[in-house]
Amino acid sequence: MLLVILGLLGLSIGSFLNVVIYRVPSGQSVSRPRSFCPECKTQIRSLDNVPVVSWLILGGKCRYCGKSISKRYPAVELLTGVLFLAAGLDFSTRYFELALVCLMSASLLAVSVIDVDHFIIPNSIIAWTTVIVLALTISNCAYHDAWVTLRNGIIGGSISFCIFFLIHFFFPAGMGFGDVKLAFLLGLGLGSIRLEFVPIGFFLAFFLGAVVGMVLIALGKASRKSKLPFGPYLAIGTVATFYLGSPLASLWLHR
Ligand SMILES: [Zn+2]
Repeated sequence: MLLVILGLLGLSIGSFLNVVIYRVPSGQSVSRPRSFCPECKTQIRSLDNVPVVSWLILGGKCRYCGKSISKRYPAVELLTGVLFLAAGLDFSTRYFELALVCLMSASLLAVSVIDVDHFIIPNSIIAWTTVIVLALTISNCAYHDAWVTLRNGIIGGSISFCIFFLIHFFFPAGMGFGDVKLAFLLGLGLGSIRLEFVPIGFFLAFFLGAVVGMVLIALGKASRKSKLPFGPYLAIGTVATFYLGSPLASLWLHR
């Protein structure tokens, strides 16, 4: 039952993420106006706005002008649904972790797509997610009257922020300040689950970034000077650590 709810919630959050991805970079409001076709500006009926299903029924085209609708819309919805389901399978009734992982996964998906498209990491998304993660962590700590989660989150976030700030300071071309702010959020989220997750998450991100970078250079699709967005690697490293962090931490600590 929990899994069904999470899957459906993921699909509808994914639908909201599409709005965020489309509107936030250009500074538009995410709540108003209602969704409309970017081509003919016709407002989209609720029935045509059902995640994934409507796209399939309409054959990927606007009902009014026939302009094709990018596959990215159903892809983002489906991926969010899958991420929420995965969180449900892994964390089931550990509600704090479950909520944290769903929230961070959704936010990081939007951040990644926007970073790939525009080379920016929007302040508003980072700020909102950080506030909600902090609120979630504080309420969880207050409920259990144990504050270690919040302490670890703040430690993880602060250390990550400082390290990324130094990288940004010495290599401003390679690491934008958006990545530094994102690093605080990731350290906060990873640390509040388990402090060891912080280095593991960033290790995976840098490792993945290096591998993909080398492959792109080898294929001639990028040069050493190419600007590559780092947000998606940070996002993938973090989300992977939510699931692989515990086995990786035991490998690391008991070597
Ligand atoms: Zn249209």
